Amino acid sequence: MASMRYVSTRGLAPVVSFSEAVTLGLAPDGGLFVPAELPDLRPHLAAWGKLGYDDLAFEFLRLFADDVPTEELRGMVRAAYTTFDHADRAPLVRLSDDLAVLELFHGPTLAFKDFALQLLGRLYERQVRLTGRPITVLGATSGDTGSAAIHGLLGRPGVRIFILYPNGRVAPLQERQMACTGADNVFPIAIPGSFDDAQKIVKDLFGDRGFVADVGLSAINSINLARVLAQCVYYLWARLRLDEAGQGETEFVVPTGNFGNVLAGWMLSRMQVPGLRFCVATNRNDILHRFFSTGDYSAGSVEPSLAPSMDIQAASNFERYVWFLENGDSARVRAVMADVAAGRGYVSHSPALGSVRSARLDDEGIRAVIARVYADYGYVADPHTACGFAVEPLSGVSQVVLATASPAKFPDTVRAAIGLDPRHPSLDALADHPIVRHELAADASVVRDFVRRHA
Ligand SMILES: *Cc1c(COP(=O)(O)O)cnc(C)c1O
Repeated sequence: MASMRYVSTRGLAPVVSFSEAVTLGLAPDGGLFVPAELPDLRPHLAAWGKLGYDDLAFEFLRLFADDVPTEELRGMVRAAYTTFDHADRAPLVRLSDDLAVLELFHGPTLAFKDFALQLLGRLYERQVRLTGRPITVLGATSGDTGSAAIHGLLGRPGVRIFILYPNGRVAPLQERQMACTGADNVFPIAIPGSFDDAQKIVKDLFGDRGFVADVGLSAINSINLARVLAQCVYYLWARLRLDEAGQGETEFVVPTGNFGNVLAGWMLSRMQVPGLRFCVATNRNDILHRFFSTGDYSAGSVEPSLAPSMDIQAASNFERYVWFLENGDSARVRAVMADVAAGRGYVSHSPALGSVRSARLDDEGIRAVIARVYADYGYVADPHTACGFAVEPLSGVSQVVLATASPAKFPDTVRAAIGLDPRHPSLDALADHPIVRHELAADASVVRDFVRRHA
């Protein structure tokens, strides 16, 4: 019955099934997995318009996860999204006739990454059950990925998770989300230095093949295929709500760093879902804005900003988009990625396949936009979401801004902009929990010994 096949963007890895692609994460040739063919969703849309979020997610994902038994998949999807605190999961909040917000922060860690990681945690658990082999997840974070990954995996039998982060450089509430879980399979590790130092240790440890094999090491980064597919669902959900309301062409404005979120939406337009446009909204780290406005993809240095989860100059999902831009020519993708890795960059003469445009917003703009959106609509936006609200609409096209995090996660910036203190009960509750974290030296061998002792 399994018929959906996944190929590597670099074309030198074997074709795999959904479950294999999820377990591997990165393809063995260094590429990213993409579906060999994308389904045409048009025949499903009328029926799918009547479904609730969880059922829609199941119907969509079963087209891709066709080697997972149907009822098992349904159970995992339901369990993943019942952790959310809103019945719609991704409520579409209307601010005016042609402007709405798609709130993606109703999951356990109050940021959009929960949509993917709540499901991925359950797929990992299934894998452990099938193979009988435990998994050790190791990653580095500057904030939201670490907390969402931890909450996707905490308490799951056979899975341990180690997250490195730069001591003193993640937002205090993000640290509490990682370090106050009380779960004994979760190990938050604070190291001195920057996010790059943490990331480097993780890369070094993944390069140690004996260690990888001994502890069953697995990465939980934004390149996992399951993350992209899980994120397609809320665009589809929103599009179906807009259809219901008789709204025509709509531009989804997506606060962007690694290009994972917006790529998911854009892939739906390749599945023939009509009426979709996209705008890539960056902060001052604007490599993707430069690419979409000039065709030139060349990295600058990363500057800290008020929207820290978008402080990225090497968008890890970009390679999937290049594969589409280059019509699936994997030799060409290999050449492009080699150029990018060598610092030579990439130039495309038609970067906006379909309808993608872009914008950027610096820190001053972020504060000003939070204030303006509050004044105009009484709506409180977090600093990442603010980048999306800065985009001038196209005439005759309605806009949906994706709210990627709850303002309660970034109270200092929001308070400075509008004088209000955004709160969320789940964050308030963390204040009473003890912080359990491990301070280690920024040294791969120290971290390796620690993981071996606890895995
Ligand atoms: C991760 C994150 C982003 C960026 O998402 P990408 O998929 O990397 O583009 C934006 N906003 C928030 C709050 C995030 O946590």
